[in-house]
Amino acid sequence: MSESPTAAPAKEVVLLKGDGIGPEIVSAAVQVLDRIAKRYGHDFIFSEYPIGGRAVEICGNPLPQETLAACRAADCVLLGAVGGPAYDDLPVHQRPETGLLALRSALGLYANLRPVRLFPQLAQASPLHMERIAAGFDILIVRELTGGIYFGERGRRQGSFGEEAFDTESYSKTEIERISHVAFRAAQSRNKNLISVDKANVLESSRLWRETVHRLSSEYPEVTCVNMLVDNAAMQLIRDPAQFDVLLTSNLFGDILSDEASQLTGSIGMLASASVGEGSFGLYEPIHGSAPDIAGKDIANPIATILSAAMLLRHSLQLEDEAIAIETAVESVLDQGLRTADIAVHDSAAIGTQAMTEAIVAAL
Ligand code: NAD
Repeated sequence: MSESPTAAPAKEVVLLKGDGIGPEIVSAAVQVLDRIAKRYGHDFIFSEYPIGGRAVEICGNPLPQETLAACRAADCVLLGAVGGPAYDDLPVHQRPETGLLALRSALGLYANLRPVRLFPQLAQASPLHMERIAAGFDILIVRELTGGIYFGERGRRQGSFGEEAFDTESYSKTEIERISHVAFRAAQSRNKNLISVDKANVLESSRLWRETVHRLSSEYPEVTCVNMLVDNAAMQLIRDPAQFDVLLTSNLFGDILSDEASQLTGSIGMLASASVGEGSFGLYEPIHGSAPDIAGKDIANPIATILSAAMLLRHSLQLEDEAIAIETAVESVLDQGLRTADIAVHDSAAIGTQAMTEAIVAAL
């Protein structure tokens, strides 16, 4: 008796579109994932839940219980972005960003991986002189995501100059160790160079960071590990981005340095990210925000979210060929000269979000 082939189980992907351009760019990535499912015979089940400002409008909570429960039950999550001027004056517990921070924390996603690569086709869109980027660059920023100043004690109080506000940067050895292991392992699989960013000349939390990274480095003898002060790192990224392989950072430093690094690639609209913890579960999102200034105009660059979907396939669903297919399709539309407004140089005509998405789908 012949056996029928067993179909791979369906994969549950939760979509959190969020605010601003979030719905447009997530919809773009879903069109690409639908094409991948068709081409490779996969079954992706998408379900949509509110987060951020949209969720506050619906139920007064930027991270509704149903949203968190759905994420916990899924294989992975694809997120657009949250926030916008309409929500800026809400109390802290209702701020869209509070919902996102709570989500990352509740899901144990302590490591944020941000590849920063120069597509040669976009060299002209980079603000750096051609000679500085002639060799290209390919950096992986490993950012700690669930600790540090974004999660530390904060408040207002009366000080000697009247009302004052404070936020606390605090890291435990355990938190530093687990993110450092992620960075060392990443470096091991790449060019074996790790630069750990801190401000150890001033901050006690950075001194513990530096000591801990240094101690762990003996477990990875093949990786060259160097410390760099964050102010110098900000400068070196502009001076010579090719010197970086893996960049290990705290939550705050990684947030800032990755926006800076993104601009070197031409636009923040090109940069994807994966937030992971233990196991294969992950949350995937572009590194940019909700870009309220361009929302609803069909001009947002969908590539960061589409490349985030490629990371989702690779890390959470172990579909390497499919991830490469998306990355190759993106390269192919760039080769064709297609550009959204943010990566178009001077007189080159720009296409919109949907036209760029359709071109990438067609290249698949
Ligand atoms: P932003 O990243 O949204 O926008 C910065 C600039 O980059 C804007 O000029 C915007 O138009 C442009 N931009 C961003 N993404 C683009 C894309 N895909 N294509 C073309 N251009 C793009 O940062 P911001 O303006 O500082 O913040 C706006 C809102 O987003 C705020 O409410 C902020 O809190 C929120 N935010 C959310 C996240 C997140 O959800 N992970 C991250 C950062 C900021």
